[in-house]
Amino acid sequence: MVVTRFAPSPTGYLHIGGLRTALFSYLWARKHNGKFLLRIEDTDKARNSKQAAEAIVNAFHWLGLEHDGEITYQSKRDEIYAKYIKQLLDEGKAYRCYMSKEELSELRETQMANKQRTKYEGKYRDFTGTPPEGIEPAIRIKAPLNGEIIVRDGIKGNVVFKHEDILDDFIIARADGSPTYNFVVAIDDHLMGVTEVIRGDDHLSNTPKQIVIYEALGFDIPNFYHVPMIHNAEGKKLSKRDGATDVMAYKEMGYMPEALLNFLVRLGWSHGDQEIFSLDEMRELFDPKNINKSASIYNTEKLDWLNSHYIKNTPNNELAKLLEQYGLLLTSHDKKEILLDALKERAKTLKEMASLVYEVISTPTYYDQAAAEKALKGDALEILNIFKAKVSAASELHLPSDYHHLMQEVVDEMKIGFGKIGQPLRIALLGKMSGPGLDNVMAIIGRDETILRIENVILKHS
Ligand code: GLU
Repeated sequence: MVVTRFAPSPTGYLHIGGLRTALFSYLWARKHNGKFLLRIEDTDKARNSKQAAEAIVNAFHWLGLEHDGEITYQSKRDEIYAKYIKQLLDEGKAYRCYMSKEELSELRETQMANKQRTKYEGKYRDFTGTPPEGIEPAIRIKAPLNGEIIVRDGIKGNVVFKHEDILDDFIIARADGSPTYNFVVAIDDHLMGVTEVIRGDDHLSNTPKQIVIYEALGFDIPNFYHVPMIHNAEGKKLSKRDGATDVMAYKEMGYMPEALLNFLVRLGWSHGDQEIFSLDEMRELFDPKNINKSASIYNTEKLDWLNSHYIKNTPNNELAKLLEQYGLLLTSHDKKEILLDALKERAKTLKEMASLVYEVISTPTYYDQAAAEKALKGDALEILNIFKAKVSAASELHLPSDYHHLMQEVVDEMKIGFGKIGQPLRIALLGKMSGPGLDNVMAIIGRDETILRIENVILKHS
């Protein structure tokens, strides 16, 4: 069975890079009917892990991802870690190190002065004497002394770490008994039955250490996939400014979950030149083997493009429901279909869509002055008056085409171009020159509101 996991450190929210590795892990597990587990790496007890877990679960919920089983909290597993530390000590695979802080920093300084790699030199590795007094020992693993460790990575191929370049007898439990990061990750991945570790390649240099732990304890080594980072347009690591923010901020900005997931799956993974993937398709097609070897570039235009694609393709009833989150209550609007059809092609985000809708359904209180001056010149007000009279007198006025006919009549009778009525009418109805087709706008707001808006502009500008 394929078991993957997402193992965030509790920074309080889920960010876009974390979400991408979570998505990859989720997809790979689902594709194989396996399990996708969630582990909160909260060994730093000062941080509030509960809140962080809630933030992550909320974000997963919004996106339609779900993890299997209970959440594992590292902060609750001290006894488990202590048991393995004892086992390694008993088997002679780990040992107590009595080097004091001062001694260690002296060693470090000497090594730095000699331009050597800073590392522990194994002073207590084979120590059998009487330990110095007053020093609580740290526990160190006996790492192999030479040779190399090969990380067999599904994306990067075999990555060879020479022992002398990276390893020493690193600490697995500090003097206060608390276990260290690489130790607990290896223990937990094993105990949770994780078969595939998909994570950011900023963790690649931790992996040989984790392999030392797996080997010391005789655990099977999982398959690793170290995913290259997401970069900004300048080729630098993504920062908060570029979009490394809380995933839930994307909801506030008006992005649809489908668009965000589609955007993320394509950040570093591809399937031919296909751009649009539903979650079902992602589950079916995703394979970490096709993750790019190089960093991917975060591109807001691409996200906007995907978002407008999903907005356009969302049925109006659903769209109306989604817009409620942005303060717009449309579900019982009788012209909802025309309204949403007229605007869904124009909006990049749901938030923008909500404000476009708002602009149409609310009576303008502000007129773009320059545009109004230009559009209301000459006999514009008279044309508006004539049009208004036709609107008042018409027997059937429901569809955009009903309004269009009336505009056409004015154009024909007065022998004017369409712009002569279109421009002043646009100012009257919307207060500015941009917006959807006027026949649509009038069908949406109806006869009385159309008349009111025309009267308002005439009053204000005559
Ligand atoms: N807790 C680590 C992080 O948030 C992830 C560790 C892992 O995936 O192995 O970066």
